[in-house]
Amino acid sequence: MSMLKIYIVDDSKVQCTAVANLVRQIMPKAVVTTEHNAKIALDYMRVNSVDIALIDLEMPEMDGVELIHHLATESLCRATIIMSAKPPSLLASVAVMAESQGLTVLGALHKPLSDAALRNAINAHKNRKTPELKQTNDAFNFSTMALMDAVANKQFINYYQPKVELHHYHPVGVEALARWQHPQKGVLSPFYFIEKMEKSGLIDALTLQLFDDSLANKQRWNRELANFDLAVNLSTLSLVNTSFPDWVYDHVQEFGIAPGEITFEVTENALIRDVAKAIQTLARLRLKGFNIAIDDYGTGYANAEQLARIPATTLKLDRSMIHGVAAKGQLEKVLRSTVILAKELDMTTVAEGVELEDDLQLVKNLGIDQVQGFIFAKPMPVAELESWIKHRQPKPKG
Ligand code: C2E
Ligand code: CA
Ligand code: CA
Repeated sequence: MSMLKIYIVDDSKVQCTAVANLVRQIMPKAVVTTEHNAKIALDYMRVNSVDIALIDLEMPEMDGVELIHHLATESLCRATIIMSAKPPSLLASVAVMAESQGLTVLGALHKPLSDAALRNAINAHKNRKTPELKQTNDAFNFSTMALMDAVANKQFINYYQPKVELHHYHPVGVEALARWQHPQKGVLSPFYFIEKMEKSGLIDALTLQLFDDSLANKQRWNRELANFDLAVNLSTLSLVNTSFPDWVYDHVQEFGIAPGEITFEVTENALIRDVAKAIQTLARLRLKGFNIAIDDYGTGYANAEQLARIPATTLKLDRSMIHGVAAKGQLEKVLRSTVILAKELDMTTVAEGVELEDDLQLVKNLGIDQVQGFIFAKPMPVAELESWIKHRQPKPKG
């Protein structure tokens, strides 16, 4: 039997972890993935196959009922388990709705989940014939050939999202975020192509192309606008490419940009897979004067020891640690201690995904250095970013 792919969707990170641990105890061989944002979960399931999706009903933005509706109508997973702290009657009616739309419901479980109830539901999977997935994802399932063509035709561009400091809300940097200007489908998010490009060996070509493009912009900003930091995302795979540090160093030189004006963002998960190699590459980048940011902090398994070993200058606190934190006492404690740790390690802290005024105030009170979030600005095409910088409001909107 091939390994079961189990996907847990719950807006609470703590719940995600708890349920994931329970699932791993029951099915040690299952591949367990978690997601706290239902919209992202939906996008994920449009391109990745999932055997069992465990879905919480109460989530902000898109609730579990809506997500389940999509899963059913688009045939995005084989089977689902519904979870909620709401009364059993509600759970039961959602289960009926899902089944009536053709989704296999293995269980409708009351939270907190009991080991026995979850075990029963997962075991039910083995005994049921679940429908084959429809091939409706094909529209966004791009072939390697299509991706290669798109790189060759320069269809990938950078959007830029500002980072602001928290004293005067001045922009202090931008993060370059890849977008695909697809001739038929419009502007596509990285979600639809980064993972594919990593798997098909195209990611370095994309990174290098977009890096040059952002350097050209940065050169113009330095001359005509302002001198702020440029952050670029690096894939895991680029960290094992030993010629990468030399390549990027040559290119910043060519554009007359100081390495200290560039930050490479890497995810902690990426670091864990091949720690020695990754640290070596990062150390070389640091030696050349580039900044390193640990991205998505709070979503993976980094601990204090690993944090201390990685030659990073910046810690980017993931949206899951930030969004709604002002209303969640426990999360606030975790965030507070993380910020203290980062400061002890002399790292700049950046809060990602700030959307709410209350969260902004809390983030500010905790002494976090910078914010990157929709409360200030979304990622924008270069012309829009430049006009935003020129005409920006001193205060966040909303
Ligand atoms: P990331 O590096 O964590 O980038 C931040 C993501 O959070 C961006 O999504 C941004 O639009 C989103 N975001 C920022 N503020 C908010 C907010 O207040 N609320 C919400 N809901 N979201 C916010 P985006 O642009 O879709 O990028 C997704 C991911 O794709 C990035 O996550 C990054 O891991 C990857 N990526 C993007 N460009 C590249 C690239 O050129 N190379 C590589 N290897 N990965 C890239
Ligand atoms: Ca990033
Ligand atoms: Ca991030």
